[in-house]
Amino acid sequence: MDFELNDTQRMFRDMVREFVANEVKPVALEFDQKPAPEDCLPLEAYRKGLAQGYHQMVVPTELGGMGLDAVSTIVILEEMAAADAGYAVTWHVNNVSLTMLLNMGSDGETRQFVGEILAGEGGVASLSTTEPDGGVTSALLIDPANFVFRTRAVPDGDHWVINGAKSFCSNAGLPFSKWILAFCRVNDKTGWPSTMPFVIPPDTPGLTIGGEENKMGHRLSSTRALLLDNVRVPKMNAIGSGGRAMSGGKRRTPYDHDTAIAAISVGCARAAYEEALAWAKSREVLGRPLIKHQLIQAKIADMYIGLEAARSFMYRTAAYSDTHDQMDVRLSRAVKVFASETANRVTSDALQVLGGMGYCKGSITEKCFRDQRVTPIYEGTNEAQRISIAQLIDAAM
Ligand SMILES: Cc1cc2nc3c(=O)[nH]c(=O)nc-3n(C[C@H](O)[C@H](O)[C@H](O)COP(=O)(O)OP(=O)(O)OC[C@H]3O[C@@H](n4cnc5c(N)ncnc54)[C@H](O)[C@@H]3O)c2cc1C
Repeated sequence: MDFELNDTQRMFRDMVREFVANEVKPVALEFDQKPAPEDCLPLEAYRKGLAQGYHQMVVPTELGGMGLDAVSTIVILEEMAAADAGYAVTWHVNNVSLTMLLNMGSDGETRQFVGEILAGEGGVASLSTTEPDGGVTSALLIDPANFVFRTRAVPDGDHWVINGAKSFCSNAGLPFSKWILAFCRVNDKTGWPSTMPFVIPPDTPGLTIGGEENKMGHRLSSTRALLLDNVRVPKMNAIGSGGRAMSGGKRRTPYDHDTAIAAISVGCARAAYEEALAWAKSREVLGRPLIKHQLIQAKIADMYIGLEAARSFMYRTAAYSDTHDQMDVRLSRAVKVFASETANRVTSDALQVLGGMGYCKGSITEKCFRDQRVTPIYEGTNEAQRISIAQLIDAAM
């Protein structure tokens, strides 16, 4: 088994590493510390990212995109997250929204709505499943036969009319947001047969996009609540049959959203590790650098072991997605849980190595500690992921 990146993957890694070193890292701490969440979004760095084509990573070449393999996308996300996890998650949410569209939509639907993302200077998509009533994002992992969304879509002539509320919708508040893919209930069945995703442009009458959530981390990303009051969308905006990929349809992109969260976790933790390592080498205690003291050595070694294990695991999972018709869902959920919890430990250890400096604003590690904390929560909580993994193991026996 070959764990080496190929020439193209290395090229993307180096290009993105250089881009974020110049455009994101120098401004990340400053934007993170702005008191009003609306002011924390580095719009210039996002616009420059659009110019680099970061919004088209998963779009197949025949539709005008970069058509990247899953390994390339996680290599890119690790580099972005090493500069700022919120910056990385913005592109990830666009990737996952487009992936849903590409893998569930008809040819006409994908051409139309991918075209809107690529048009002009480009834009980003959002994905909305979470609802304020709670539990649905866990239920769709744990109880796929019985979960239901409360947000309802009802057919009305050539349109659908949508009513309800959604929470924590990433990207919806960005000025170059093109559409939100909102999952709604469309009948009285349960589970996936009760559900369809709808493309909703942000300026649709009846859609209210709330203010920015005042988050403890990921402050450079946009996260907003949605209120849907008789939102009317054309029939074409109802995507596919609500389960094209899940029912075995051929995937148009191998993008693996759980492995992407692993990559964001690894990148964010790597940034904290690198700061802690530099600190341990330069700071002297009892006449020797910290790194010469055994208890600090143990932390440096544990951080290194955790990062290498998580990165190897995510390469394996992404490589699986690239070489198989369908993802191994159990493996993908496992890498998300493993990498997010590893990164929580790594950022905590890094903070400990920095001592009081690590607890103060201005250290990269302090920011990474906050940024990292959400990865066991979003994209399916690790509790729900664990229950789902056990169910899949049980079903395979
Ligand atoms: C920064 C950020 C960005 C986000 N971006 C998006 C986005 O773009 N789109 C989107 O749709 N959502 C997004 N989310 C929402 C995120 O996915 C949810 O917050 C997450 O899935 C948890 O859902 P919840 O908040 O409703 O918690 P709840 O479902 O209310 O869960 C609360 C707690 O109970 C546990 N729990 C729930 N059910 C069970 C059970 N059956 N057994 C055991 N434990 C259980 C959970 O694991 C959790 O610990 C984002 C959230 C954040 C913070």
